[in-house]
Amino acid sequence: MLRVIIVGAGIAGLAAAISLRRAGHCVYIYERSAMLDEIGAAVHVPPNVTRFLVAWGLDPARWHFVKNRRMEFVSPLTLKTIQVLLQDGTAVSLGGAELYHAHRVDLHKALKWMATRPDGPGSPVTIYTMAKVVAYDPVIPSITLKNGESISGHLLVAADGIYSTAASVIQGYEIEPVLSLYSNYCYRFLIPTSVLEQDPETRSFTDGYEGWTRIYPDNENNKRLIAYPCRDNALYNFVAIFYDKCDTTNQAQGSAQALEDGLALGIVMCGASSRDDVEKRLEIYGNVRRARTSVIQILSHAGQDQARLIHEELRKYLPEDEIPTGPATILKNNYGFDALHTTLTAMTEYSPSFTLPLNFFQPKDID
Ligand SMILES: Cc1cc2nc3c(=O)[nH]c(=O)nc-3n(C[C@H](O)[C@H](O)[C@H](O)COP(=O)(O)OP(=O)(O)OC[C@H]3O[C@@H](n4cnc5c(N)ncnc54)[C@H](O)[C@@H]3O)c2cc1C
Repeated sequence: MLRVIIVGAGIAGLAAAISLRRAGHCVYIYERSAMLDEIGAAVHVPPNVTRFLVAWGLDPARWHFVKNRRMEFVSPLTLKTIQVLLQDGTAVSLGGAELYHAHRVDLHKALKWMATRPDGPGSPVTIYTMAKVVAYDPVIPSITLKNGESISGHLLVAADGIYSTAASVIQGYEIEPVLSLYSNYCYRFLIPTSVLEQDPETRSFTDGYEGWTRIYPDNENNKRLIAYPCRDNALYNFVAIFYDKCDTTNQAQGSAQALEDGLALGIVMCGASSRDDVEKRLEIYGNVRRARTSVIQILSHAGQDQARLIHEELRKYLPEDEIPTGPATILKNNYGFDALHTTLTAMTEYSPSFTLPLNFFQPKDID
């Protein structure tokens, strides 16, 4: 059993904690905030992660997730449908599970419950709040908290978010942020459905559209609006995007990639014991995650209807016949990826007798 230290209790840290706990390890999370006032708007919980979240015991209804019933492009001028991307059943046929809309706070609460629930499997994760990590020693490995306390473990996971200070220390060189190719502004806000319904001008967003995601592209003026409900349809999430060349916010896979990363880390560490073994398994983890996350990042440099702009970049990671060319093939790429089987295949190559613990998933198993 490994003693695992995770820095950060965001979506990535909690997902890794759940998976590592289910893999049989002892997990401790150090989080700088009090975790009392989580923030955020809505996030998509797509089929590529719903599959294993449900198999880990997450009940979407309990956490107020809204099942997506349709996704479409709508003309901002005529309000008529331009193209339907998803209808009832498409997510299941592409990704083997439903697409949900969740308030980020609800998703975060669900993950925290899954990590810390006392009834197993494995040992409940311990979360230390108000525990800011100020220094790392990747060799021991250990962390130092703001109060001076030093904590060591067998495995250190840096899940400290986009402004990570851990990454540079662990890599041993300064990691400079890379400027995005195109500039982009994104403004998100939530409006209660009841408020939208009271105003005849905004009623059209909600009337009969429960569970719909609608994208209003105004490509002539380089802006677009995305609207979808969350929290039992009681809140509407809006994303207003302004861009110079193409919309770079459109894959809705950021939190999903953090969740897939967490799943994969727990799987590769199933049965890990010695330091050499951990290093080898981390190499496998890098191999199974690098291409997948790079493809999603590149896809995020263009809107679903602008795939031609990133075709060349995708060639580095995908064979020509697998490069998505439009909304349908992008969704197939995003939703159809099976992080569980990809990781299991790599682990079976490493060790032919590799298996997951019987209770890694709930008794009603994942396919
Ligand atoms: C409003 C909003 C809407 C979004 N919508 C979508 C969407 O629709 N679809 C989608 O897929 N993605 C969406 N995203 C992005 C998605 O939420 C992120 O990609 C994902 O949450 C990243 O998670 P993370 O755990 O890596 O980072 P974070 O959520 O930033 O978590 C990092 C954690 O580490 C803690 N921490 C940092 N430094 C330290 C330290 N030194 N010591 C201790 N703790 C530390 C922080 O307090 C924080 O809790 C959205 C993000 C936001 C903000």
